[in-house]
Amino acid sequence: MSNQMIGFIGLGKMGRPMATHVAAAHPGLLVFDVVTPADGWPVGSTAATSAAHVAQSVDVAILSLPDGIAAAAVVTELIAASNRRLRCIIDTSTVGVEASRTIASAARTVDVDYVDAPVSGGVAGAQAARLTAMWAADAAISAVVEPLLDTFCAKTFRVGDEAGMAQATKLANNYLSGIAIAASCEAIALAAAHGVDPEVAVAVINESTGRNTATTDKFPQQVFTGQFASGFSSSLLLKDLQLCDDAAVDAGTGWALGSYLVETWARFEAAHPGSDVTLMYRSVTASDPNAPSAKER
Ligand code: NAD
Repeated sequence: MSNQMIGFIGLGKMGRPMATHVAAAHPGLLVFDVVTPADGWPVGSTAATSAAHVAQSVDVAILSLPDGIAAAAVVTELIAASNRRLRCIIDTSTVGVEASRTIASAARTVDVDYVDAPVSGGVAGAQAARLTAMWAADAAISAVVEPLLDTFCAKTFRVGDEAGMAQATKLANNYLSGIAIAASCEAIALAAAHGVDPEVAVAVINESTGRNTATTDKFPQQVFTGQFASGFSSSLLLKDLQLCDDAAVDAGTGWALGSYLVETWARFEAAHPGSDVTLMYRSVTASDPNAPSAKER
């Protein structure tokens, strides 16, 4: 592992802190983004000029890109690079089941391993190197994958052999996360509308059966502080839920609450494009004329 050169592509809200941890473990990390990060390139890293430059210079490239379209474009450039050194791509992006399978099979044609490896834990988790990674690929490459994921993760799980299996796991998680935020906002707004202090309502719920990550983390840290800056945007959540929708329809599994959830977040995103997901709380209180409310149903 120590002789391997590592690259990182996509230094956005998640990728910048993740790459910072990788650079601490692998000085000389080669980084690339189409935009220079606001906080600059991570200490100990070197900026590449293109994705092809990364492919020519490193053995393993880690990706953190917005979606399947960006990931497919970057992987196409990586695998087409002349004098390619790259032999393994670890993609931490949430791209969906179908895109992951398609990208993996393109990489396989040129003998590059594509590891489907999305992460959970948000920007705070990335900053603290406390993410959870789920990955799917041949177990034979564990020795390459695990130590790199360990630089920014608290927990890693190998969930299967085939690309797409980790995406399915990640989408299942984000479905629950999306429903937890939306349902918690409606629940706390309901209690507040009946005169209960929202902080008291959350304190009670956190000692009761309704407890979830929105009530334990997002309400105390983002809503009650007025920050509304969890780092997870409604556009990204909607992307994940639409990918979930595709995967559920494809698999033929039950998706009644899921399809209503997609509609709910699509309506929120249309009214408040790119907002932090925690702003859903403001939108379900009576003050927002664009809010999706019980009256509309
Ligand atoms: P982001 O938009 O902040 O970052 C994406 C980065 O990719 C940007 O810096 C962008 O310039 C770069 N990029 C786009 N196209 C590129 C290209 N062709 N070549 C090089 N760089 C390119 O997104 P994010 O919030 O950091 O999320 C990244 C991924 O992680 C997404 O797939 C997201 O679904 C997933 N994710 C996000 C969170 C979260 O809380 N933000 C949590 C878990 C997983």
